[in-house]
Amino acid sequence: MEQFVKRLDRAYDAINEADYILVGAGAGFSAASGIEYSGKRFEDNFMDFIDKYGLTDMYSSGFYPFETSQEKWAYWARHVYMNRYSVGKTRLYEQLLELVKDKDYFVLTTNVDHQFWINRFDDKRIFATQGDYGLFQCSRPCHKKLYPNLDFVFKAIEKTEDCRIPSDMIPKCPVCGKEMALNLRVTIHSLKMKNGWKCIITIRGIWNILMKTKTSHF
Ligand SMILES: [Zn+2]
Repeated sequence: MEQFVKRLDRAYDAINEADYILVGAGAGFSAASGIEYSGKRFEDNFMDFIDKYGLTDMYSSGFYPFETSQEKWAYWARHVYMNRYSVGKTRLYEQLLELVKDKDYFVLTTNVDHQFWINRFDDKRIFATQGDYGLFQCSRPCHKKLYPNLDFVFKAIEKTEDCRIPSDMIPKCPVCGKEMALNLRVTIHSLKMKNGWKCIITIRGIWNILMKTKTSHF
């Protein structure tokens, strides 16, 4: 424990002294913020899907081969609502921003729950490499535009019956008419690489500093 506290102190000092900070955040960071994909949070909100399909958690459910689009979108509307629209600010993300806000920081994250934006990190300093639950794209894709899906998600939740949405609610591409997809890396043709260039600049800055100065290890 004493060793752990020492390492924390050294990390805190290193952050305070740093010229550049590259934040890498994955699923564990959101889980630690309370956005848990399994256990009570999952069971309290997906019991109908658990009973019908034997789902065990929100991560593996994302790969469940639903037989119809009505079922698939009923599940995903609730999943996106739970993890993107119902959460709001979280204490851990706020604390992280407190630590880095006055630094030349950049965030590289695989999280698709929009928490860095919701907690007011600078849009120009975030590269979410695996997309965003809150956006639709064409599933082909026939064009590059991304579409906010908030209206769909809230209406779909309201209209879900027996783990299905009505067939006329299935989201379709306004250009080619093919079904929409969430803007996620799991979608083979995920479109957006926003802020990737700024990430490269920040990594280059950190590399330059590392080459010139003694680095901290903790
Ligand atoms: Zn299309």
